[in-house]
Amino acid sequence: MPRKKNINCMFCGRSVADGAQLVPAPGGDTAVCIDCVEAIHNMLDGNEADARAVGKPMEGSLAEVPKPSEIKDFLDRYVIGQDEAKRYLAVSVYNHYKRLLQPDTDDDVDIEKSNIILVGPTGTGKTLLAKTIARLLDVPFTIVDATVLTQAGYVGEDIESLLTRLLQAADYDVDRAQRGIVFIDEIDKIGRKGDNPSITRDVSGEGVQQGLLKLLEGSVVLVPPQGGRKHPEQKMIAVDTKNILFICGGAFEGIEQKVAHRLNSRVVGFNTDNKVRRIKPEDFIKYVAPQDLKSYGLIPEIIGRLPVITHLESLDRDALLRVLTEPRNAITRQYEKLFAMDGVKLQFAPDCLDYIVDKAVEFRLGARGLRSIVETIMVDAMFEVPSLGVKEYTVTREYARKRVEAAHLEAASL
Ligand code: ADP
Repeated sequence: MPRKKNINCMFCGRSVADGAQLVPAPGGDTAVCIDCVEAIHNMLDGNEADARAVGKPMEGSLAEVPKPSEIKDFLDRYVIGQDEAKRYLAVSVYNHYKRLLQPDTDDDVDIEKSNIILVGPTGTGKTLLAKTIARLLDVPFTIVDATVLTQAGYVGEDIESLLTRLLQAADYDVDRAQRGIVFIDEIDKIGRKGDNPSITRDVSGEGVQQGLLKLLEGSVVLVPPQGGRKHPEQKMIAVDTKNILFICGGAFEGIEQKVAHRLNSRVVGFNTDNKVRRIKPEDFIKYVAPQDLKSYGLIPEIIGRLPVITHLESLDRDALLRVLTEPRNAITRQYEKLFAMDGVKLQFAPDCLDYIVDKAVEFRLGARGLRSIVETIMVDAMFEVPSLGVKEYTVTREYARKRVEAAHLEAASL
């Protein structure tokens, strides 16, 4: 067994300190752990199908893939506003398919993966956009919260767990999983924790980013099918991440100031009519660029692997009102469906909708809060209406106000 402390398994990244039994390569600079040797053995032994699936090119033609404008139209049905993010996503996804379908020519031009990063306040539709894209493309999709990921061997979820989830979403069809979409939320929260000397092991920071980088770059990873490392007997599955599209999302709080600062310092010395001064504070987000992400502790390699950066805007009153009623599965439509199943035609009075939006704004809950407010209002109605024997039911502003006041919802915004 190697005694060098800093040697890690070249497959799973664990070290002796993480409990791995390492077999050193000749020369002793690299090693592989017993678990991975076993997994590779299993893979070659009984799991050739999975091994073959790794790196298999995609069949089909570009004509079958929705065009960027069609992708955007589809997104419009479910997501209000956020036009720029939709356009960027549509183009990235289309290019992603082109990449999967690129012919094997020897012109040395290799279309690179265009992983995306969505920057915008919480509750503005980042996850919804990613989910909706996956619905359109009928590819396996999974959402992972970056903050629960830790370096291999630590408490929390190993990086590979996100591939376990993707495999599960693909019903263990490795080929499908390898073309799936992974949405990594809260990417802004895994930054390096600075130079604090008391942090000897940066469990949630750089180690995670290095692990993530491996996946973003595209590599073959041995994935425990049930997650976790607690079942050494389980056969690992080899998953090639080369063609998996990663969409990252983060609120990057305060990023407007960073953008403003960058733009301002760039114009220093130009004694001209200063365009930057004419940008409204809420519009700075539109100019977000990769370099603005650095101060959140993301390593440059990660930023480099997320070449498509786009932003989402805060939803104003009008947008929130539209969120309530317009999307295909808008909250109010969901309640209408629930009531229709009891034979009752449900309606929300227009001033009731205004009231709901006012409360979401007042409690600073954004779109995320609309659902909890409507839920609070509707619970009594859902209790009573099925036994009232009525054919129609209208939720009035007065009814909504009483329900909300009785529920002390404002506590939720504290
Ligand atoms: P984020 O990932 O940006 O924090 P989500 O996408 O999870 O936010 O949004 C939370 C909920 O709010 C969604 O499920 C959806 O109901 C609603 N929502 C947020 N933004 C929009 C939007 N632009 N259009 C329609 N619904 C939205």
